[in-house]
Amino acid sequence: MQDLFSGLVQEVAPQVIAFRRELHAHPELSFQEHETARRIRDRLGQIANLQVLPPYIETDVVAVLNADMPGPCILLRADIDALPIQEETGVAYASTRQGVMHACGHDGHAATLLGTAMVLSRVADQLPGKVKFVFQPAEEDGGGGGVLCERGVLDEPKVDAAVALHAWPYEPVGSIAIRPGWVMAASNPFKVSIQGVGSHGAYPHRGIDSIVVAAHIITALQTIVSRTIDPQDAAVVTIGQIHAGTAENIIPARAEMEGTMRYTRLELGEQLRQRLSRIIEHTAQAHGATARVEIIDGYPPMYNDDDLSALITTTGRELLGEANVVTAVPVSMGVEDFAYYAQKVPAAMFRLGVRPVASDSYPSLHNPAFNFNDDALPIGIRMFCEIATRFLRAGGRGTK
Ligand SMILES: [Zn+2]
Ligand SMILES: [Zn+2]
Repeated sequence: MQDLFSGLVQEVAPQVIAFRRELHAHPELSFQEHETARRIRDRLGQIANLQVLPPYIETDVVAVLNADMPGPCILLRADIDALPIQEETGVAYASTRQGVMHACGHDGHAATLLGTAMVLSRVADQLPGKVKFVFQPAEEDGGGGGVLCERGVLDEPKVDAAVALHAWPYEPVGSIAIRPGWVMAASNPFKVSIQGVGSHGAYPHRGIDSIVVAAHIITALQTIVSRTIDPQDAAVVTIGQIHAGTAENIIPARAEMEGTMRYTRLELGEQLRQRLSRIIEHTAQAHGATARVEIIDGYPPMYNDDDLSALITTTGRELLGEANVVTAVPVSMGVEDFAYYAQKVPAAMFRLGVRPVASDSYPSLHNPAFNFNDDALPIGIRMFCEIATRFLRAGGRGTK
């Protein structure tokens, strides 16, 4: 099977590369992926043994291989949305849309999954189960993964496990990175509104300065992570926006702030939320002001299932070589909406190296110069094909 895959992957690679570049040239923002979804749907429609499902949201595309075959079902997921960034790669197939680009490699994820569907369809009769291909909108903004899970993407056929990959510019092409356990953070964005009393800048004693209150709140918030969270746990509290005031000689009555909390264990969330609210409300009160806090539910933390992580690690070592599977992976305080799938079924996500082997560095994700590396496409496809096949052949279990 291994040799069979490498031959088939080579065969589809030129089409997959062309498709990746086509998507790259026509990026679309979260929940606006109409043209992207149409392009994917058109291609999937040409693949044998594949049943393309009606959309769950408008811009998703989900297809099932071997829909009528008994046996387990593995879900493979690619996100398909782009970012509000003006591209600076200088490539011939650069974005044709002003201010929108594929700067997170989702064009590469979608092309990898299409290639995987093309290859697996050719060996469909050798697979003892089903493969569900999910081209998911709105990873960057809006949590499309959460919406799909709510609307039943894990049912009919019922999904036994879910696997995804993400382009990783910090490792070279030909390598992957994976580890079990908590790998990405949960987020709680929050908004703060401070109400003081406005006054002339020369008469501070006649007002309550919302800017000074905001400053004290920001300083006090620094104690949440440094003084109340176990140093063995990972958490972040960041204020990313502050707005107040209209002139140099006016003490403003109101100040508004926005920020985000990140943490890797679900249980930390409640502790952080309580602490944040208490510090903000009471610090404002101590200065004679009032403050309102609104905490928003963000993405949950991403947990890589032990057995699936072991399956991916073993597969990577056999395909790419022992040295090309990085397992010393630090927890990322970034977020990922694949975590919604992981809340419902065993799931794992691995990172796919895209840095050219000869280079020491590569532009970061979300950088205007980032571009998915086409050399990584065949590697991603082979990994997906092998993982799915091994999972189904093991009767729907990860193999340690
Ligand atoms: Zn991103
Ligand atoms: Zn991404």
